[in-house]
Amino acid sequence: MEYTGERIDHDEAWRRRLRPQIYVFLAGPNRAIDGAIGGSGAEFVNHSCNPNLYTRVRNGRIWFISRRRIEAGEELLIDYWITGSDPVYPCFCGAANCRGYMNQPFDQTL
Ligand SMILES: [Zn+2]
Repeated sequence: MEYTGERIDHDEAWRRRLRPQIYVFLAGPNRAIDGAIGGSGAEFVNHSCNPNLYTRVRNGRIWFISRRRIEAGEELLIDYWITGSDPVYPCFCGAANCRGYMNQPFDQTL
């Protein structure tokens, strides 16, 4: 499925981070898509450390693609892989390989 929404730049994405519900997905250098406005439903996909979808960004468009066969009624999940200077968001997904947070893995050697 495609992650659709209003196309905004990173400055606007930064301003919108203060909303209680954030559906902004970075889509490349100075590109972001706010699924809260014109979203396809992909903006409601939850996080898991063991997701059944992966993300592809091509030409400023975002796609969620299945990693394996997904059964009817099974929840769709992606790894949010939150980057940048965002705070650490704890994860309680319950997966056996849960890393404990939704951000990208930290480099433990630093
Ligand atoms: Zn997790």
